[in-house]
Amino acid sequence: MRLAVIGAGSIGLAVAWRAARRGAEVTVFDPDPGSGASRVAAGMIAAVTEAEFGEEDMIPFMAESAEAWPSFAAELEEASGIAVGHRDAPTLMVGLEDGDRAEIDRQSGLYRSTGREVRALPGRESRKVEPLLSHRTRGGVLVPGDHAVDPRAVHEALLAAAERAGAAFRAERVTDPADVDADRVVLAAGCGCADFGLPIRPVRGAVLRLRAGTGRPAPRTVVRGRVAGHPLYIVSRDSGEVVVGSTSDERGLDPTTGTAGAAHDLLRRSIDLVPEIAEYHLEEVSVGFRPTAPDNLPLLGHLDARTIAATGHYRHGIALIPATAAYVADLVFGADTAVRKAFDPLRFEEGP
Ligand SMILES: Cc1cc2nc3c(=O)[nH]c(=O)nc-3n(C[C@H](O)[C@H](O)[C@H](O)COP(=O)(O)OP(=O)(O)OC[C@H]3O[C@@H](n4cnc5c(N)ncnc54)[C@H](O)[C@@H]3O)c2cc1C
Repeated sequence: MRLAVIGAGSIGLAVAWRAARRGAEVTVFDPDPGSGASRVAAGMIAAVTEAEFGEEDMIPFMAESAEAWPSFAAELEEASGIAVGHRDAPTLMVGLEDGDRAEIDRQSGLYRSTGREVRALPGRESRKVEPLLSHRTRGGVLVPGDHAVDPRAVHEALLAAAERAGAAFRAERVTDPADVDADRVVLAAGCGCADFGLPIRPVRGAVLRLRAGTGRPAPRTVVRGRVAGHPLYIVSRDSGEVVVGSTSDERGLDPTTGTAGAAHDLLRRSIDLVPEIAEYHLEEVSVGFRPTAPDNLPLLGHLDARTIAATGHYRHGIALIPATAAYVADLVFGADTAVRKAFDPLRFEEGP
């Protein structure tokens, strides 16, 4: 079977890799692989602390993907020869002020509904788990099963693995998927899927990449926090990289405006939470666009007999790589997969 995958972000590549390994003749189209959100992301695999009211349909899919990540990472490293920085350190969600702590307590009922482990922690206990936290921290919750991966390494590894599995790459922008010569076509062009008529909007986000100098400590957990009402996360990697994020706005596809203000706010709040960050080297400010459907849930499934949507992963596209790749590869091969109705890409179409 000849499969065309449009978009070489991590979603498209993971589908391409899985399908090529199952015997499809795969061609991936992208004028600039990795130029989308996949190489901007922080890399949290957060089935609990990413749970949001109104997005409960995501919870089982996020849990399934989080469970799959350790073996997916091992397999990907084996197939590509590239380490993907999967780290099983726990996640701490803490508040800096009483109002922030109250908001976390409100959210923790939803966290517990995921069925995964969530432990309440008073301020002093949270500083035992993460000694770099500010003394002002009011405590929060510890989530042992929310982990992280290095999304840039994952993207590189997926490129190598897809290529080694036999996928061909064409550095071309597709304007009309109907013109692509293939038996099946997967639309995985992130925010570019809006050009194919899919209901996708770009949700812009900025993150900072910093580096703890030699001998300087970095947080050993993923630190998520609320600082005076604003959410924030700090993700450390074994490489010494520390990612601080993120902003969120919907002002179109311009990556250049507002980065100074975004960097200022993220730095100030992250230093409030982890004062040691003031001593780090600031290496990069990057902006990406989260491909987002009207209800913030993915668009996964058939648009017609030949065309399958694999987009709309919003804030969760890295966390959802393993589950998406497995589900979409099954759809490509026509396997008898239980259809995920909540993610039906045609759910916004008006009935007759
Ligand atoms: C600041 C920020 C932080 C994030 N943090 C996290 C996180 O911690 N955890 C998490 O799970 N997710 C996170 N995300 C979300 C995640 O990055 C996205 O959901 C995910 O990367 C989407 O991947 P994708 O492959 O669908 O799209 P993209 O990575 O955007 O890739 C789309 C690709 O399609 C190509 N393309 C576009 N149009 C065409 C066309 N017409 N023809 C051919 N190719 C085309 C582009 O060149 C691009 O390479 C974050 C996102 C941002 C912006």
